Amino acid sequence: MKVTYSIVAPIYNEIENLPELYKRVKGVMDSTGESWELVLVDDGSTDGSTDKMRDLAKQDERVRSVIFARNFGHQIAITAGWDYARGDAVVIIDADLQDPPEVILELAKKWKEGYEVVYAVRAEREGESWFKLWTASLFYRIVYHITDVKIPLDTGDFRLMDRKVVDVLKSMRERHRFPRGMSAWVGFKQIGVEYKRAARHAGVTKYPFNKMLGLALNAITSFSYFPLQVATYFGFLSAGISILAIPVVIYMRMAGIPQFTGQATTLIAVLFLGGVQLISLGILGEYIGRLYDEAKGRPLYIVREAPKD
Ligand code: UDP
Ligand code: MG
Repeated sequence: MKVTYSIVAPIYNEIENLPELYKRVKGVMDSTGESWELVLVDDGSTDGSTDKMRDLAKQDERVRSVIFARNFGHQIAITAGWDYARGDAVVIIDADLQDPPEVILELAKKWKEGYEVVYAVRAEREGESWFKLWTASLFYRIVYHITDVKIPLDTGDFRLMDRKVVDVLKSMRERHRFPRGMSAWVGFKQIGVEYKRAARHAGVTKYPFNKMLGLALNAITSFSYFPLQVATYFGFLSAGISILAIPVVIYMRMAGIPQFTGQATTLIAVLFLGGVQLISLGILGEYIGRLYDEAKGRPLYIVREAPKD
């Protein structure tokens, strides 16, 4: 079957949002007069979302549900969406309606003009705590400056991608992934469209602080060696300082100036260097752990129920 648009939504305990998501996506996509499908990826929901998805799929054959064996995380759910989508254009959207489905029409317009990746930029955000806004803004800026790929600022996963791009992304099977970075990395003709990010339709965020931190670490380690190089910079800096300090201390000793005698100085120097070394080891550990995960080569996700067609 030929499908023009695939709308992919990862679902993790979004039972209150599912009917509204389906209704709004259907309204918007029917208005295009082109064929579409809604690919729902259940990321190990425990609140009955899974049954709700099965119902929707039974009701409307354009709804296809992929059901994971457990929770694999938002990034992996998006990946499964890429794998199962059949459309000429694939749109990733949040299930909580923070990304208004109506914006898809604007994304599609740019696609028709020949752009291959059309990402939605959050010009405004509604109904979010100052803490979330502040950490999100900091996150985008740190990632932008540290990584080697210019990942657009204030841009989430909400975007439309051409089939060509999705096929390339499907071949990138890295485990610790940052889909928005990957879709910037591949190149192609890209453009942003601004939109107003709405408040959650219902339910609570599935991104507590520790998950956001994990996402930030994946973003940085996937696209940059900078943290590894920090140890080198620190090494040169402290070696440089100690070389300069040696003649100064010798002179002061000979001249009988009593600074730099006693344990405090030694203690501080030892603790400082010990701390820097432990941090560097930890950073190395982050990369080595990721290497180990990649080396195991396990499947990215396990599907309990795939769509019938
Ligand atoms: N999500 C998921 N797996 C997870 C966490 C979240 O599939 O482990 C989905 C969630 O159902 C939603 C999207 O990812 O469709 C974005 O999550 P959320 O709205 O909680 O994030 P926020 O908008 O608060 O950053
Ligand atoms: Mg949300």
